[in-house]
Amino acid sequence: MKGHFPIDKFQALQTPFYYYDSNVLRQTLRSIENEVARHDNWYVHYAVKANANPKLLRIIREAGLGADCVSGGEIEASLHAGFPNSKIVFAGVGKSDWEINLGLDNDIFCFNVESIPELEVINDLASAKGKVARVAFRLNPNVGAHTHANITTGLAENKFGIAMRDMVPVIEHAQQLKNVQVVGLHFHIGSQILDMGDFQALCNRINDLQEELERHHIRLEHINVGGGLGVDYEHPNRLPIPDFHAYFETYAKKLKLRPGQTLHFELGRAVVAQCGSLITRTLFIKEGAVKKFAIVDAGFTDLVRPALYQAYHKIENICSDEPKETYDVVGPICESTDVFAKQIDLNSTKRGDYLAIRSAGAYGEIMASQYNCRRLPIGYLSDDL
Ligand SMILES: *Cc1c(COP(=O)(O)O)cnc(C)c1O
Repeated sequence: MKGHFPIDKFQALQTPFYYYDSNVLRQTLRSIENEVARHDNWYVHYAVKANANPKLLRIIREAGLGADCVSGGEIEASLHAGFPNSKIVFAGVGKSDWEINLGLDNDIFCFNVESIPELEVINDLASAKGKVARVAFRLNPNVGAHTHANITTGLAENKFGIAMRDMVPVIEHAQQLKNVQVVGLHFHIGSQILDMGDFQALCNRINDLQEELERHHIRLEHINVGGGLGVDYEHPNRLPIPDFHAYFETYAKKLKLRPGQTLHFELGRAVVAQCGSLITRTLFIKEGAVKKFAIVDAGFTDLVRPALYQAYHKIENICSDEPKETYDVVGPICESTDVFAKQIDLNSTKRGDYLAIRSAGAYGEIMASQYNCRRLPIGYLSDDL
């Protein structure tokens, strides 16, 4: 048996399900806290889109993080989990009127605005309520991230943010509007980034932009650098906690904040990925013409990352200590992409064995679908079993 899975307690549960190790989550949060506590003007927001399971949200809120939301639904989930409105930020290229109104009604900390038409709408809706919305502009820094093409967001070709050359005119325009107050700049260059050089490139870009702002006598309260820190999908046992020290030190060393400026982070994956596993039961072992298949009861409806991004997840047979054999681990969904891994070595697997698909805490449960009329799996916290 590998990892610390309470297999005896699993017997009563319907597979597939998500299993969240609350100790790993709490250790991860403590590690963030240790790094951030050294800076009294730093704030970390949890990117709710990585996993909005109410039990996880509650633990994250108790650790003092704010919430980074990209939809009205996420604002509602955050408020429901007890995040204070003063710690909620709201980003996204396409905010609907009801979502903006929800943010206004709840006096959230900041709207991260991604276009001039959006700015005008926020100003109008705030005016109708007699409010002043706090806004930051999301800039597209044209900084590449060494990650999968589908999850890089900070290149000029991506749909996100406002072009750098428009920064000053957009801010000067916003300063003319009565119902918005410009408080910051926002960035987010992508996800699953492990090369600190990418974050360093972002810092350099922000330093240049701040100098340009100074030349125009524009002072902003805060800089929000987004999230994107990656996790080690290969070694969830050996390296369950991401290297927060290297990440935060990059910003401490390279980013030049102005006096009084606060720095905000929005971490999603790095907070929750390693605490979660998708637990699935082996239904059948099928000897194909050229290979052996372990057919399991979870599919891409429950964890879409392998099918969507060709992502790697470590898979372990947590019931078997038999010698290793080579399998393709596949789900039951009627699509050829419903494959979790090809040609991997597992301890010899038989019908009924539990497999743990590791590092599934981020972009797992939250991306689940009911395709094939499948039931949505339940997420269990180790605390509750
Ligand atoms: C997705 C997202 C994040 C979090 O990204 P991770 O890679 O999970 O850390 C942060 N900010 C914004 C605006 C996002 O869209």
